[in-house]
Amino acid sequence: MVDPEDLAREFERAFGRSPRLYRAPGRVNLIGEHTDYNDGFVMPMALDRSTWVAAAPRDDRTIVARSREYGETMTIDAGTQRPQRPQRRHWVDYVRGVSAVLSDVARPFHPSTSSGRREIRGADLLIASDVPIGAGLSSSAALEVACGYALLDMANRPIDLVQRARACQRAEHEYAGTRCGLMDQMIACYGREGHALMLDTRTLERRWLPLPSTLRVLVCNTMVKHQLASGEYNARRADCEAGVRVLAQRFPGIRALRDATLAQLDAVRGELSDQIYRRCGHVIAENARVEAAARALGDADFETFGRLMDDSHRSLRDDYEVSCAELDAMVAIARGLGCVYGARMTGGGFGGCAIAVVDASAVDRASREIEKRYESASGLRPDVWVCSAGEGVSAWRLAEALHHGEALHHGGHGGRGGQIL
Ligand code: ADP
Ligand code: MG
Repeated sequence: MVDPEDLAREFERAFGRSPRLYRAPGRVNLIGEHTDYNDGFVMPMALDRSTWVAAAPRDDRTIVARSREYGETMTIDAGTQRPQRPQRRHWVDYVRGVSAVLSDVARPFHPSTSSGRREIRGADLLIASDVPIGAGLSSSAALEVACGYALLDMANRPIDLVQRARACQRAEHEYAGTRCGLMDQMIACYGREGHALMLDTRTLERRWLPLPSTLRVLVCNTMVKHQLASGEYNARRADCEAGVRVLAQRFPGIRALRDATLAQLDAVRGELSDQIYRRCGHVIAENARVEAAARALGDADFETFGRLMDDSHRSLRDDYEVSCAELDAMVAIARGLGCVYGARMTGGGFGGCAIAVVDASAVDRASREIEKRYESASGLRPDVWVCSAGEGVSAWRLAEALHHGEALHHGGHGGRGGQIL
């Protein structure tokens, strides 16, 4: 776990002055996978693990960024610049992207300043995270959102959280090369303790669903990451867009798979390849599952909620084809335990984590059993932990935090309509 005091001290040693601290959480998605770039519904919850950025402004237009995880310090220009082509897949490009996109989109807040604009300034940044990287828990959005918050704060440029989330998504598209939907950045901004977020990715309407205290979410990291993830992700997105083009010709109201029904998909089946038909079928059915899951959660009908998770996993495995042997094994093991309501892969797929929704009274036993059985099935030692729903992005006032022995949120966030830095 990242200790904010430690991080601040490390920053002081490296950069010779005191930082402010910012954090944004990773996430699990309870249900609604690969629906967010189809204008659909998703139900993520923020993790109680975050990516932290200790930051202090510089007088020049240079960003010096150090990642504890990568043990590397990189120097980049702050402000507008073009993405590197082809993408290098270097971690600093997420920071570069966020800084470049924010320079582009943020409107001047104090037009009376000498430059007429509040530029994204140079800064020293120290990044440290307890979100596992590349495990489907969205360490990338946590990094983007935490850095974005830091850079905007130092530029004294308030823009609303939705714009921030969109800017971070654009940074990931243009500078990191993954054409992700908006779910990860939105939950990193809008997470709320004890709640999952029902998000309509078309209208961005948000509804926080209380998670009952009798339920626990187990994160089960398979400890594998198959290399194809980013390329396959973009390929799935292209398949969906190809399906929409055919559907829209027959049914002009359809702008995204969110608008289509399975009956409409069947009506154009002859014009689609089997692959595109199955990809679209997953998205359309998954969208309906998210709405059904929200109702089940509201009714405290955990059996139904769990069954919808199981269906989601099967559809991702067989029709969307983004699972892998290790995820399937993890899910089957979890599902074999009586106390587990449902289990599925979470995140983009091809490795990373599965989640299991478990009765609280049996969570320790379930976690031990899953660890034991997965290790004997795969030869890999998994990382299995209980996560509770955490808060969205925040700034921490370190001096007060040290003084009071706890960190203080700065301003409102988490969707409570509060003040933004
Ligand atoms: P996920 O978002 O599921 O963890 P991604 O492949 O989308 O996986 O994003 C992981 C990438 O994000 C890493 O390869 C790295 O470039 C960047 N990243 C995430 N966390 C950090 C960190 N703490 N320090 C530096 N880069 C990070
Ligand atoms: Mg990611």
